[in-house]
Amino acid sequence: MSTAEQQNALMLASLLGVNEADASERLRRTVLLTAEQGWKSSWASEVGQLLGRTVEVRFEQGDAAPDLELMIGMIAPRTGAKCLFVNLGAAGAALSMDPLGRFTGEPHGLHAAAAACAVAAAAVHAVIDNAALPPVRLPMRLDYSQLGIPDGALNRPIDVGHALMAGAGAVAHSFLRAARHLDVQGELVIIDPKVVQGGILNRCMYLREEDVGGDKAVVLAERAQADFSDLRLRPYVTDFKSYVRGLGHPPVTVFVTVDSRHVRRSIQLEVPGRIVDASTTDVRGVVVHSNVLPTEQACLACIYRHVPEEHARERSIAEGLGVDLADVRHGLITADVARRIVRRHPALDPAAITGIAFDSLFRQLCAEQTLSTPEGRQVLAPFAFVSAWAGVLMVVEMLRSFAGTTKTNYWSVDPWNLPIARGRTLRPRHPECQFCSKPEYEPIIRELWAERVEA
Ligand SMILES: [Zn+2]
Repeated sequence: MSTAEQQNALMLASLLGVNEADASERLRRTVLLTAEQGWKSSWASEVGQLLGRTVEVRFEQGDAAPDLELMIGMIAPRTGAKCLFVNLGAAGAALSMDPLGRFTGEPHGLHAAAAACAVAAAAVHAVIDNAALPPVRLPMRLDYSQLGIPDGALNRPIDVGHALMAGAGAVAHSFLRAARHLDVQGELVIIDPKVVQGGILNRCMYLREEDVGGDKAVVLAERAQADFSDLRLRPYVTDFKSYVRGLGHPPVTVFVTVDSRHVRRSIQLEVPGRIVDASTTDVRGVVVHSNVLPTEQACLACIYRHVPEEHARERSIAEGLGVDLADVRHGLITADVARRIVRRHPALDPAAITGIAFDSLFRQLCAEQTLSTPEGRQVLAPFAFVSAWAGVLMVVEMLRSFAGTTKTNYWSVDPWNLPIARGRTLRPRHPECQFCSKPEYEPIIRELWAERVEA
């Protein structure tokens, strides 16, 4: 079993309360994709790429019966297997266990990408078929207007200027995969100090097997650049703070895709003019946030303020690896810390674990029992469709933020079902926020970004 498959198996084992071997067996179940000719057939291969990061996917019938046949468009099933029916058009998409009617028109690429996430979620649910999974409410109908994309925004170029992207992991990959459907212009600096670990192949859509060991930022920029003609991707293998200090001024726009609450807060403390953020919570949730300074509402450090569970998670990582809490808060394993970890785990090579994230190593080493605790589950990797939803919704939030029309700053979405527009909220400032509740930041924010609010 590859480390990527193992990540999926650990996640599923934790959800179902079964052992890793049993979870792996369920993930080897097969989905056969049967699609109408034409653009629905190309879209089916996109769905297959996403779904194939979690369960087995086939396009050819073969000898063995599939566990599920995914029917895309108006077409008859090829097998007697359980069927999930999908159809989509210019205004919406539908999923059902019963045959669906006709749809007209062809969706915009970003709408189709959103529909692909919903289809992958429902297909994973149907093929694994276990009551312990989060519920999927079928039939479902995705009305693209629920996404809240500003009128006309999909057909206009969007210039991000000189923007930064913090992190080059699963959400970063998904963000660029979704953004390729738009005419994005400008420059995006991708910042990540880490190297690619095998375990993230289950959810980083641009990665291939041979990328393991390469710099995450470099590999993502190289692989994704082909999808953008007017957006230049520039990788930097360093941490966010060092990059910003080198700039000499706070960044105007930052896309935040890192996976630590602590790092999110530290990014807000660099006082970026605009933040667009998306995160995943194991397989259960996707959260999107944006802010433009100055704001009277929540900032990124309000949304991801320090909470007791975060402490418990850091402590279980520190105890498991045999290091101090302060080391874990640093985020990355240094050469010195690597030597200490090897004392507890002699099978590890200190050079191989230097420069990787504590979470990644913890995930690799931890037994099922550790990961099935609430603290352990927080470090489990989501399935690919969860990260993909985060990427699509982050692109939507970018469009809303740049259009200047968004009256909300927070959206929590259930990745097994559909985004609901009325779920968007305006979160207030948190009185104990380490950024916006500190009066010393007030004049700095005004001086840096005051003109923007009047513009
Ligand atoms: Zn705040």
